[in-house]
Amino acid sequence: MRTETEHTIFLKDYAPSPYKIDKVELDVKIGPVTSRVRALLTITPRPGTAPGTPLVLDGDDLKLDSIAVDGLPLPLTAYEVDTTALTIEEPPARTFALETEVTLEPERNIKLMGFYRSGGTWCTQCEPEGFRRITYYLDRPDVLAPFKVTMSADKTLAPVLLANGNLIDSGDLDDGTHFAVWEDPFPKPAYLFAMVAGDLGSIHDNFTTASGRKVTLGVYASHGKQDECLWAMDSLKRSMAWDERRFGREYDLDIFNIVAVSDFNFGAMENKGLNIFNDKLVFVKPDSATDDDYYNVERVIAHEYFHNWTGDRITCRDWFQLCLKEGLTVYRDQEFTSDERSRAVKRIDDVRTLRAAQFPEDGGPLAHPARPDRYKEINNFYTATVYEKGAEIVRMLATLLGEAGFRKGMDLYFERHDGDATTIEAFIKVFEDANGVDLQHFQTWYLQAGTPVVTVSDSYDAASQTYKLTLSQNTAPTPGQDTKVPLPIPVKFGLIGPNGSPMSWSSASGDVRSDDLLVLDGASATFEFKGVANKPVPSLFREFSAPVNIVSKATQADRLFLARHDSDPFSRWQSLQDVSMALLLDAIAGREWTDTDIDALSAALEDAVTSKTLDPSFKSLTLTVPPEQLIARTIGSNVDPEKIRTVRLKLIRDLVVRLEPALAAAYRDNQSSAAFSPDTVQSGQRALKNQALTYLVVGGATDGGGFARRQYDSATNMTDRFAALAAAVAGWTADAEAMLGHFRTMFTADPLVFDKWLALSASIRGDDVIDRIKAILADPAFPANNPNRLRSLVGSFAMGNTTQFARADGAGFRFVTEFVTDVDKRNPQVAARVLTAFRSWRSFEPVRMAAAETALTALRDAGGLSRNTADILERTLAG
Ligand SMILES: [Zn+2]
Repeated sequence: MRTETEHTIFLKDYAPSPYKIDKVELDVKIGPVTSRVRALLTITPRPGTAPGTPLVLDGDDLKLDSIAVDGLPLPLTAYEVDTTALTIEEPPARTFALETEVTLEPERNIKLMGFYRSGGTWCTQCEPEGFRRITYYLDRPDVLAPFKVTMSADKTLAPVLLANGNLIDSGDLDDGTHFAVWEDPFPKPAYLFAMVAGDLGSIHDNFTTASGRKVTLGVYASHGKQDECLWAMDSLKRSMAWDERRFGREYDLDIFNIVAVSDFNFGAMENKGLNIFNDKLVFVKPDSATDDDYYNVERVIAHEYFHNWTGDRITCRDWFQLCLKEGLTVYRDQEFTSDERSRAVKRIDDVRTLRAAQFPEDGGPLAHPARPDRYKEINNFYTATVYEKGAEIVRMLATLLGEAGFRKGMDLYFERHDGDATTIEAFIKVFEDANGVDLQHFQTWYLQAGTPVVTVSDSYDAASQTYKLTLSQNTAPTPGQDTKVPLPIPVKFGLIGPNGSPMSWSSASGDVRSDDLLVLDGASATFEFKGVANKPVPSLFREFSAPVNIVSKATQADRLFLARHDSDPFSRWQSLQDVSMALLLDAIAGREWTDTDIDALSAALEDAVTSKTLDPSFKSLTLTVPPEQLIARTIGSNVDPEKIRTVRLKLIRDLVVRLEPALAAAYRDNQSSAAFSPDTVQSGQRALKNQALTYLVVGGATDGGGFARRQYDSATNMTDRFAALAAAVAGWTADAEAMLGHFRTMFTADPLVFDKWLALSASIRGDDVIDRIKAILADPAFPANNPNRLRSLVGSFAMGNTTQFARADGAGFRFVTEFVTDVDKRNPQVAARVLTAFRSWRSFEPVRMAAAETALTALRDAGGLSRNTADILERTLAG
């Protein structure tokens, strides 16, 4: 039997299309049941295309009603249509006009790719290959054309008609419909096409760019939601100002619109001038959204806006280059957040995300380079590696070149490639040319998968006052890459003297670029510092200057010393994490910590929590104990999740016994009666207060459950209410069940708050959790086609509730593969994403590993999977 998964696309096979599209005119008649799309494409053979070369246009699930070339209908013998393409056998060997007409049924499009209906709203999602579900087209990112779109629809059903670019005409038609004509002067690939039609409310504002262009801004959403869009609008205006300030990038159209829809496979989409958002990344108000929600809305609004230059004006040549726009734009949104909020907190947050999402991917069967060289299903490459590791690579580039050198390269990138569909190589080249450096070796970061392990050793010779630091690197093989080369690794560093002050040196040998940056370029390198008065403690990888795992012989005393004295806040936080991790690993290996060990750690934590200089959000991060999955990954093999959970919980309890007064004080002192604001001061206080609460509850402090209950009952905002509920559920207090029930009743009508309840219900550690989830799914009122609901419930379970997902009896694995089988029929993207939860299955102890394999094999043997899911399954089993 031939399956679709046999079809692999290779980067090395890239060739431009034989034809280009000079102009696109679409006429879209939106009807209540069916919609008709008439496409008029002006097409020209590229120089060198042999006359008679067939023109192959992509098409997916389309019904062709008519086809004409230069106004003349094509005879049946002149073209061929199958399920994936429309082929015109012998198109004219000159510029010609191709006109096609197709019928669509948006209501039936539950894959949510192409043109579909969400609630009452018609909308599109075209990245990566959705446009071919709207009309026949050269649906690839290197075919760029200006688009003009005429939309018409019933005036009552769809008073709002939006598309990319500027509105150039609109009016009423005599059959009760109305129309709007949108023109986007910037040539763009089809994946950036968008249109929206519906009965929507909106808010409007404007922004004047540095050069004086007045831009009208709009955020559209279902009626009654306008007040929940204000933060998104505010975030948009700050993003526009920031991109001018930081990168000299101005907005370029007269209109910028954002639309929030409820059914969306992604977070948001950067269509030129018309960003479409998953509503969970637009709607916020104090009584239904948490501080994290506010933070995420701000971050993603910024991200999509920044794509206007890094993605839209300069796009990708092919999908292998996805990281070109995503890694760079994630870097840009990280910098925006760092400038708007706390740089240190943002860095810690991003590193936590990287370690939780990207490192396991990079170390398992789904590992792939940031710029892959092959794929079967491009939808499966919207990964943490492409996004988060991609951003880390750009960050390393900025570290190596310095802020000014990095900006020079970016300026040249915009100047040289504006209007291009380009590559990673071209991106690297601008930094080489702007700075006169060779970055060919650096480029390997994009081509090689896997997380390097850097091993640290050092020695000090008092007689010669010489300090020697040796770093070596190794990257384990990943699927398809058996041998690895050493990478250039930037190490931000400092030497700290016995009194806690920075130490200087008279001379240094090795690749020491400045007094705070050295580079490990080969397999191993030694750096020698002369004139060092005392034995220093090295602080390495400050700001987490490279996405690597670090192995060192540092003692607990060294780590605690750094936690107190390091001038880099990231390193202080990391040192405390390292102390906890060392205790956890020892205990899991059977060497239980002593009272002295715990006293030392709790004293350092108490110092941090009671510090007069650290800000509350940073303090809340210092209190976090390494998460279970990070512990599992650090152990690497023969993992028993139950054991990890038990030991981690014991560490928290042992700490709370000592820290209870400090935690109670932090809880008390960070209460506020001020009106809710999502600003960094208030949100930081809430973060610390709620972290303290969580530990008081989970750590078994006196009346911890009572604290949670009272806060839940009296909370005046969702951040506090949800934190109290989450703490009660995590500690499974006597009230937890009742509180969960109350929360469901109270918020069941608000889908985004309902998602929080779903995720929390999926996080319960009791053995009945799978039955709970099954009961929720079986409820006829459960919206089984909505990606947000499904991801909140089953995605959260598979990705977050490791002890239940990886139950020794295999029930968790079986439940997830059965869910995948079911959802795959409706939404392959959601199914494939949930299945990636199995990416670390080979690291479990033998019983769990066998149970995972049984579930995965059964899924494979049943067959009938989508290309998305079959691809993930095949790689997961093979790896
Ligand atoms: Zn993006």
